[in-house]
Amino acid sequence: MLEQLENMDSSEMSRKEQRRRVGILGTGDFSRALAKRLLFSGYDVILGSRKPEKKAMSAIDQCLCNVQLLSVEECIKSASIIFLAVHFDNVKELLTEHVVKLEGKILIDVSNRDRPSSVTSNAELVQKMVPSCKVVKAFNVISAYAMENDYNSSSKQVFISSNSEQARDVVANIAKDMNFRPVDFGGLFAARRIEKHPLRLFPEWRGPLGFAVGVFNVWLLYLIYIYYIADSVYKWEQLFVKVLNKAICMTGITTLSVTYLASSFATVFQIYYGTKHIRFSRWLDKWLKERKQLGLISFALISIHVIMSVLIMSPTYLSSWYHSTEITVPANLTAPFQFKQGTWMNWKGEAACLVGTIAYVVICFICATTFPSVTDTLNWREWRFVQSKMGHAALLLSVGHVLVMGLPGWLLKPHLIYKSITFLCSILPWITLLLKPLFSLPCVDRYVMKLSKGWERHEDKCKADCVRPVKHEGYVAIDMNADKQMSCQDACACPDDRIPMMNIGVSDCGCASDDLVLNVP
Ligand code: NAP
Repeated sequence: MLEQLENMDSSEMSRKEQRRRVGILGTGDFSRALAKRLLFSGYDVILGSRKPEKKAMSAIDQCLCNVQLLSVEECIKSASIIFLAVHFDNVKELLTEHVVKLEGKILIDVSNRDRPSSVTSNAELVQKMVPSCKVVKAFNVISAYAMENDYNSSSKQVFISSNSEQARDVVANIAKDMNFRPVDFGGLFAARRIEKHPLRLFPEWRGPLGFAVGVFNVWLLYLIYIYYIADSVYKWEQLFVKVLNKAICMTGITTLSVTYLASSFATVFQIYYGTKHIRFSRWLDKWLKERKQLGLISFALISIHVIMSVLIMSPTYLSSWYHSTEITVPANLTAPFQFKQGTWMNWKGEAACLVGTIAYVVICFICATTFPSVTDTLNWREWRFVQSKMGHAALLLSVGHVLVMGLPGWLLKPHLIYKSITFLCSILPWITLLLKPLFSLPCVDRYVMKLSKGWERHEDKCKADCVRPVKHEGYVAIDMNADKQMSCQDACACPDDRIPMMNIGVSDCGCASDDLVLNVP
């Protein structure tokens, strides 16, 4: 009995040992960082090198003195979980003679591409080279630097994809042990998306920044036209602060209103189609997803406007905000002439400052709630209150600030109101603000609530509409007519284990299994 228990213990121990032992092929930057991290996470690490006799890992880093350095063949033999930390170009040469030994093992591909590809991924190609092992795509989004130095990285995500569910689980547990957050992407075809990730360069900021730059240029050109070309109101040297400050403020308020206009468009879209189960058009979907960036850009612009305004706050620059004092000096003075001058703000200056300051504080508060540490403390209702109600309040206050400044001029010359910059930059914010109470009308609100609970106006029609092709980036599409594989931007929404396919010829779409994709010529 005792012997049996001892046998069980030792077999259990060896299984555990086997599970905690990982091999890494390659001894480069990433491999060393990974080895160190795995060691500190309680794993036994074996490095596999083409020339193990020529490398002394302890000379490179003392932490690596416990790491065994073996040949590629011995490394593959000794571990059932192997990281492939070599550049993809060298993988074929490295693995060709070891295909049989890799049978049944978990092979983790960490490689990245130089250019994104929608047609295939490194991981899928590795799986084709070694069909008998379970290839997992993972860790490619973590840099060697972060791997080695950033131990407090529980928020860092590791995207995982593999055709073997068991292999995905094993790698997810390793990622957790290393204090990363594993995210399961499903089948190996998702490696295409995972490999695109490190190649991204702020994609979600491009649209909002382009929009802000475009709007800024339009406003600046208009200001130059009215202040310098049509009339000579300012000197050219005042372009840098006085005039730019106006253009920045006008761009800021336009961007802020566009941030909140998106949700009204989404509501109109759902009312028009009579369902919430239809996908938004691509432009609207993008607009809705980029509201955070639009809001942050408007915050940055409004902050610049506040700083510039404080810098030029004086009766000389903002004459309409201050009382004017006229002093007539008597011609023949026989006694000393003394006068006291107190130039304080008039009602317009004081009111504009007050409303502007409150608007800015509310905008700062909304911005603060976009920090993940603050967002995490809010529940859904609080988050909506800040982002929707307070956001509209901030827009209303900003429009109030502009109104205070523009109103006296509008009343003085109502026939020229269409030229007034304060009037022109208030149009879009007013539309955004007026749509809000319109959607709050009881009849509209009830209808929108019904839609949000899943009710549909034309149930049958919707079913037909819901399967219409939806745009997805970078999936494989098959042109049935031309009988060839091609990459395209259009495909259907499919479950996780299916890949969207598009029959270009008849504008139809379907979902295919991963195997079918691999079999495509
Ligand atoms: P590296 O410093 O150039 O190391 C590559 C290693 O591959 C070499 O040390 C070499 O080790 C081995 N190798 C095997 N066959 C080779 C061949 N024919 N020619 C040259 N070397 C060969 O590269 P790395 O920065 O560690 O990157 C390794 C992999 O990790 C790449 O696929 C990369 O995309 C991925 N990655 C890197 C980072 C990063 O921050 N560096 C981040 C994410 C992913 P032996 O000489 O001992 O055989």
